[in-house]
Amino acid sequence: MRLFSTNKKTDAKAPLATLEKAVMQGLAEDGGLFMPTEIPKLSKEFFNKINTLSFQKISFEVAKFLLKDDIPENELKKIIDESINFDAPLIKVTNDIYSLELFHGPTLAFKDFGARFMGQLISCFLKKSGKKITIIVATSGDTGSAVASGIFNLPGIRVFLLYPSGKVSKIQEQQLTTMGGNIQALEIDGTFDDCQRLVKSAFVDADLKNAFKKTNDSLGSANSINIARLIPQTFYYFHAYAQLKNKEDAIFSIPSGNLGNLTAGLIAKKMGLPIKKFISATNANNTFTEYFKTGNFTAKPSVQTISNAMDVGNPSNFVRITELYENNPEKMRQDIFSKSFTDTETSAAIKEVYEKYHYTMDPHGAVAYLGLKAFSPNGVFFETAHPAKFLDVVEPIIKQKIEIPDRLAASLNKQKNSIKLSKNFTDFKEFLLNKV
Ligand SMILES: *Cc1c(COP(=O)(O)O)cnc(C)c1O
Repeated sequence: MRLFSTNKKTDAKAPLATLEKAVMQGLAEDGGLFMPTEIPKLSKEFFNKINTLSFQKISFEVAKFLLKDDIPENELKKIIDESINFDAPLIKVTNDIYSLELFHGPTLAFKDFGARFMGQLISCFLKKSGKKITIIVATSGDTGSAVASGIFNLPGIRVFLLYPSGKVSKIQEQQLTTMGGNIQALEIDGTFDDCQRLVKSAFVDADLKNAFKKTNDSLGSANSINIARLIPQTFYYFHAYAQLKNKEDAIFSIPSGNLGNLTAGLIAKKMGLPIKKFISATNANNTFTEYFKTGNFTAKPSVQTISNAMDVGNPSNFVRITELYENNPEKMRQDIFSKSFTDTETSAAIKEVYEKYHYTMDPHGAVAYLGLKAFSPNGVFFETAHPAKFLDVVEPIIKQKIEIPDRLAASLNKQKNSIKLSKNFTDFKEFLLNKV
């Protein structure tokens, strides 16, 4: 796989990146996002037998197809075995509507797929080069715990998670601060934006760069723009399709924030998966939905909602989607429908589906459910988080206790371990220099 930067497409002289470079670097030098130069189509034989394949087997076949020139087959097999090691079952909610449950991973959110695969891929590249990497991530919740869990105990990698003190939920804080091993949480006396600023400043600081270089180490990021997080997200689209009895139901509704999940689906379609329609469901952060109405993309400051992992005013993967559709909103509308929903509508949907069908949705899945219903009487909505991650929102709506899965309960009982730091860059820099 060769990759170009979304900022450089028109410059024929711009060098293409290898997968290794794109994954280790995250963002291109010119600030663009990496995209594969070619997305080939899978064979007819593959689609003919897809119904008979397990999720792991499907994942391996798709990964091999995309990455056969980059990673030896035996190593790729190991990467899949270690990362795609939980299911993504399709659950019947009504006669015509299914939920694709993407929350059966260790941190109970769909980000586990991307984070685990990325961790394994980075580890594979480090083994080859003999280098080390120190990943610094600013998190307001879910991303941090998925990345930490995906990288836990991998040799040559350590992670510093920066989170805003007092501004993440109790459950999220326990998930972030109790991992131990090569994961260290840093509790920043500031906001999420302060955490992001510290991370960005560290990346451009020459002293840090030189200090880390001396020990064959470097600072790396793990945010959602990394191509390694998109690739594994294509796998469950194939698996969902394989599980559908009636392929007419291949209408997929995705709760959208940074649009990574949707972009992965569009790539799966390019690879030949016959998806009839994508629904990009948004909350009050409706930049993408507005784009469909007006043809103009206008980034906005984010607003807080009950589906907070989708509180994104400037979705980063939008540039990848415009690449896939040659910047043509009309072409996009043929494949994608988008609609935005209020918190009131989201709560009402959680209540209705619980009462009528005895199925408990989390707020993100509920937005996707609404998106599907607005477009079609049949299809699949993506459940991206376990409702137990949003107890405070969901329990009062359904007036029932939600059972907390063991792996979440385990982290709730562990001792919090975080290092407190101010929001001043000089303090963060000194901390990092002491860790070289
Ligand atoms: C991150 C996240 C989303 C949004 O996914 P994108 O790929 O950013 O569009 C939706 N639901 C949950 C639970 C998430 O954590």
